[in-house]
This record gives sequence, C-alpha cells and structure tokens, in this order.
Amino acid sequence: MIQTVRGVRDILPEETGRWWFLEETARRIFIQYGYRELRTPIFERTELFSRAVGETSDIVEKEMYVFQDRGGDSLCLRPEGTASVVRTFIENSQHRCLPWRVFYMGPMFRYERPQKGRFRQFHQIGCELFGPDGPLADAEMMSMVLRFFREIGIGDAVTLEINSLGCPVCRGPYRERLTAYLESVREVLCANCQRRMVRNPLRVLDCKEEGGSGVLQGAPAMRDHLCHGCEAHFQGLLGHLERLGLPYRINPFMVRGLDYYHRTAFEAVASGLGAQNAVAAGGRYDGLVAEMGGVSTPAVGFAMGMERLLLLLDENKVPVTRPDVYLVVAGEDLVTASGLMLAERLREAGLAVEMHLSGGGMKVQMKHAGRSEARIAVILGEQEVSAGMAAIKQMRTGEQEKIAMDQVVERIRLLLCQHH
Ligand code: ATP
Ligand code: MG
Repeated sequence: MIQTVRGVRDILPEETGRWWFLEETARRIFIQYGYRELRTPIFERTELFSRAVGETSDIVEKEMYVFQDRGGDSLCLRPEGTASVVRTFIENSQHRCLPWRVFYMGPMFRYERPQKGRFRQFHQIGCELFGPDGPLADAEMMSMVLRFFREIGIGDAVTLEINSLGCPVCRGPYRERLTAYLESVREVLCANCQRRMVRNPLRVLDCKEEGGSGVLQGAPAMRDHLCHGCEAHFQGLLGHLERLGLPYRINPFMVRGLDYYHRTAFEAVASGLGAQNAVAAGGRYDGLVAEMGGVSTPAVGFAMGMERLLLLLDENKVPVTRPDVYLVVAGEDLVTASGLMLAERLREAGLAVEMHLSGGGMKVQMKHAGRSEARIAVILGEQEVSAGMAAIKQMRTGEQEKIAMDQVVERIRLLLCQHH
C-alpha cells in the first residue's frame, strides 16, 4: 500500500472546517487593515531562496526540496513566502505604487525532522507591507496579528516577543563583539554552534541545545549596541505598542532564522506547544528588495504556522458544517419521480441538502439522516407524495408534520430560523 510521504499529512473532511475558520478569519481581519491576497506559485527557481533567505540559513543549508526539471533548471518547492512576494513586487514594478499590502496562505515545504508542530509540508498565512519605514508600520502589523489571535480565541495563550536586530551600520561592530565573546566560551558550545559561530554568529544565540550551561545568557545583546537610528526606531515601536495597549516582552536573544531581517523582529510564542512554541514570526526587511535587484523599498512582514495555530484553537469558535436537510425517499421510483426535483428545489432556495442515494428502507435511511446531523429530515413516502405532501421531521425534537409540497421550502426556512 502506498502511504503519504513522511512529515506530510492529509487534511481530512472532519478537519477542514477548522482550516476554513482560520483562513476566513485571517482574510476578514487582514482586509480590515487594507491587505489584499496575493497567490504566488508553489515552486520557484532555487536561486530565489538561496539569495533571499540567505546561504547560511538553516532553510537553505539543509531544508529545501530542490529538484531539476526536464529542461535542466534547478527548481525548489517554496520553503517560505516572503521571497516570492518580493520577487512579485519587483517583477510588477510595485515600487511605483506604494504602500503595497498583501497577504498569502498556503503550503510550504521544508525537509525537517517531523515532530509535534513540525512537518515537511506545512501551511503558513502571512502578510507583507512595502513602503513605510517607520515603527508605526511594525506596530500596526503586530496589532493586526494579536487581533487575529483574539478572534480565533487564542489571545490569552500567546505572548508577543520583540527585539531589534540592528541594521548594517550597527550589526557589523556588534557581530565582532559577539564573536569575541563566543570565542571565549567556545568549549561549552554545541558542535553545531561552533560551526555556525564562524559563518553566522547571531544564529548561535538561537541555539536550542544549550542545555543547562546558560553561557549564552552572558553574551552581549544587540539591543545594547544599536546605532542611533535603530535605537530611535525601537523606542518608537515601544511607544506605539504601549499606546495601543498591546502587551509584549523584549527578548534580547531572539534572532530569527532568516538572514534578511533588519531592526524589528517579533515572534508570537505559545505555552503548551513544547519546543515548537512559535506560532508566528516576522520582522522588518528593509534591505531585501534592493538585495534582490529591485528599487530599494522598506518592508515588514510575518508568517504564522497554521498547524501550530490549530493545536491551540478553541473548538467552540469553529462553526460546524452540516446539512440543513436530509432527504429520505421511499423507493427508487419516488426518487426519480419527486425526490430529485425536490432536492434541487431546496438547493435552489439556498439550503444544504443531502439526499439518500443508496436505497434501503425508511429505518435505515432515518439512521443515515441522524448520522448526517441534519437539522431536518424531509420524508417522501408513497402516501405523502400521492397526496401532494411531504413529511417534515425536526431531528432534535422528533416532531413530525405533513406539509403541502409547494410550502415545504417556506416551512423549512421557518424551522431553521427557530433553531438558531
Ligand atoms: P522554528 O524555529 O520553529 O523552526 P522558523 O523560525 O523556522 O521556526 P519561520 O520560517 O519564521 O519559522 O516560519 C514562521 C512560522 O511557520 C513559525 O513560527 C511556525 O509557526 C511555522 N513553521 C515553520 N516551520 C514549520 C514546520 N516545519 N512545520 C510546521 N510549522 C512550521
Ligand atoms: Mg525552522
């Protein structure tokens, strides 16, 4: 038997309602903030990601699904969304029409070790805002993310963490200080960090294997080495967050996994998810558009992991989808004579109708009606039909009544209203 690939899952019909809820809520909230949806391809040139995400990032070093197509081009399943959005921005000369606010949602692919909250195909919802360079844009975005969390009922489970990663002016000197510190504690660092220390010392701060040594706690923090402009930006952000009444925590050791971040970085972390506790992550990437060959444009964005959001989701918030009506028909002749027509007439009136198609007696059919969780069963028996009637049964109470065929729609509508 052929099974799904490791780290990849089906989303079963019982689960899709929760996905819709996340997607629909995201759409609604993002639109309130002026965002519109952008859909980019699921695969791109490999080069796009190695340049945008950064050669020394975990993603590019070891997580990408790269393949050669039949024409010999090196292509890659997208591991994240920002690179494609930036490509689109440049390709369509969007710098002529700023600000540009877009959101996206869909599958991403990373060759990682599958575990709780970590998959090889996973799904992100993200937003990018091009144009504004001030901290107001950062604050508005965080406020939008937190509003989304509240809407899906996880506001209390999530903490906003922020940091500044500096800019090319102040990051260079800071990097040197950090490297000097890391050299001094080299022996206690994990093997991976000893390697990363040379290529990308900031990443070491993000080490998840530090164990009990706590040696990184003593490392110099970017926060204390910001240049004037970066410090002003960060203070501005703190001011806006306070005015908006948004709770946050400064995490001086949050560095983010991608190379392109400048100044503001933020994450939303949840308790109760174990090691995979980040549900959203983002930040400012003012240098990326120019780096990718476009007209230099400041930008800020974030992405959320849908699988992790779903682990926290309040089930009570998720709307249930079930048919309004289950149509029970005695015998195949009746199905052809009136069942089919009635079902279509009910759907024409906007009702969700499941018609019994598999034969069987009334008892069996009523059992299916119960299982479907429809609020109403419409029953067409020989007698009813020949009298121009239909029986309507309210499944919750068991109450049953006979109604003239031409009044069925109206009656059902009334009953459904009363149910709400
Ligand atoms: P992590 O530190 O958990 O690996 P990351 O820094 O690689 O996360 P980003 O690239 O910033 O994550 O992606 C944003 C969000 O996407 C994460 O906060 C997380 O919720 C989700 N995410 C990332 N990788 C995975 C994955 N393999 N499976 C499920 N969700 C993921
Ligand atoms: Mg990762």
